Amino acid sequence: MNKTLYFTIYFQKYAIELMAGIYLHIPFCKQACNYCNFYFSTSLHFKEAFVERILEEIPARKNYLSNQTIESIYFGGGTPSILEAHTIEEILNVINKHYILDSVPEITLEANPDDLSKVKLKDLRKSGINRLSIGTQSFQDRDLQFMRRAHNAQEALNSIQSAQDIGLDNISIDLIYGTPTLSKQAWEDNLNTAADLQVQHLSCYALTVEEGTALFHQIRKGQVAKVNDKLAAENFKMLRSWAKDLNWDHYEISNLCKNEKISKHNTSYWKGEWYLGLGPGAHSFNGKSRQWNKPNLKGYIDKKANQIEIEHLSLQDQYNEYIMTGLRTKWGISTEQIENVFPNFYPTFESKLKDLDTEMFNQEESIITLSEEGLFYADGIAAHFFEINEETKR
Ligand code: SF4
Repeated sequence: MNKTLYFTIYFQKYAIELMAGIYLHIPFCKQACNYCNFYFSTSLHFKEAFVERILEEIPARKNYLSNQTIESIYFGGGTPSILEAHTIEEILNVINKHYILDSVPEITLEANPDDLSKVKLKDLRKSGINRLSIGTQSFQDRDLQFMRRAHNAQEALNSIQSAQDIGLDNISIDLIYGTPTLSKQAWEDNLNTAADLQVQHLSCYALTVEEGTALFHQIRKGQVAKVNDKLAAENFKMLRSWAKDLNWDHYEISNLCKNEKISKHNTSYWKGEWYLGLGPGAHSFNGKSRQWNKPNLKGYIDKKANQIEIEHLSLQDQYNEYIMTGLRTKWGISTEQIENVFPNFYPTFESKLKDLDTEMFNQEESIITLSEEGLFYADGIAAHFFEINEETKR
């Protein structure tokens, strides 16, 4: 099948409409959390030069999305709430001038609790932000200190309540489980606090230890306990049953919402929609390839040569990605889709499906989703289906 036909089918099937997203990477943080391996700088020295550069990059990249309507804009980082509200507004005005926006685009700002005074929140709301993703991580001081977060538990509570007081009604909070300082009871308390606060969305991540992070070195030197995978699995199990009891929609392994307030932006990644990434380290995707600005703030500001890298996605890459992302969601993967879009891979897929323990998945007509048991092995099950040698399939 030629690629144009492939993408036509792909988007007809997966994107409800042809909608796209814009991601802006704001690479500044007040301090480094011990587990973090995102691209950021704790020096604000180049903040103004960065803003000038991103205001230039917005119009310069306007053809990347081929005039698709922008349904979501996402300020991620780093810590985007480090920017002043008037700067956010300026960025949104330039996007509005050069792109076609949906009537009410979802506009999310990742924010840290210690940045969210009531005045700042009011200004952010005026600037056009209609969704906050607050980096709460925990409501326990011991846990926040372990992670070297810049805020404390009281600030976490205050930031959420202040955001609600000024009328923001689409608030997501991040929570991390599996830290050595978080007991099972404390994890349940964190979840219950989030529910009591009536936030609309939760992103819950297991603590992972990435090479090169402060946590990696702390563990290697024996300064802190190793991360206990068994505890993280128990925490995830609790999350599943808690979500069921309180009627949260656990629509993706790490994401839950109430009242259908899914994250439109993140869902667009899982559904194969296009997105444009602006700022150093930001990734873009246009169906055919993935490209990214190198994670180099100075190189980005100075417009140095070779600051963009591109990876052309083979059919095999696209198939593997479809399996990997689809199995993490409640929408699952479609056997019919695989047969139509990836016919060369379908016979192997079918035989691998027969090999898979039936307790690991549910099948309703052509849709396959992971079972309660299967969710614990999502990565392994996706790997079971992966194609690893395209040459033999062509
Ligand atoms: S605030 Fe976020 S991006 Fe910054 S160091 Fe902490 S986890 Fe990383």
